[in-house]
Amino acid sequence: MLIRLDHIGIAVQNIQDALVFFQDALGMELDHVALEEGGKTSVAFMPMGDGELELVQPLESESGLAKFLAKRGEGIHHICFEVDDMDAALARLVAHGAQLIDAKPRVNASGTRYAFIHPKSAHGVLIELYQRA
Ligand code: ZN
Repeated sequence: MLIRLDHIGIAVQNIQDALVFFQDALGMELDHVALEEGGKTSVAFMPMGDGELELVQPLESESGLAKFLAKRGEGIHHICFEVDDMDAALARLVAHGAQLIDAKPRVNASGTRYAFIHPKSAHGVLIELYQRA
């Protein structure tokens, strides 16, 4: 089951530059910045209420995120829903013919299991599923 909208990921060229707007001007609070995807991505976690904003910056020119930025520029990169059962959610998607980027969930630095659904199957939106540890 989908539980809630967990976060929105915004692709940025440089997190420190983006914080000048999101933290200083807009007033959002920065919780922490972490290296994700084996050091390929830097992520600034900015919690707000029940949800979160993630600023995602590629650290490697060959990553999917870097290609996204090169092609489309900064902007909304993905939306993420929390699920209570990742395996059941992925099985349901596959059963309905959806194309997954991650057939098997990955685990981030906080121990959260996550997987991406291909935007081709989701009307152009990159959707991430989260199952919090
Ligand atoms: Zn995310």
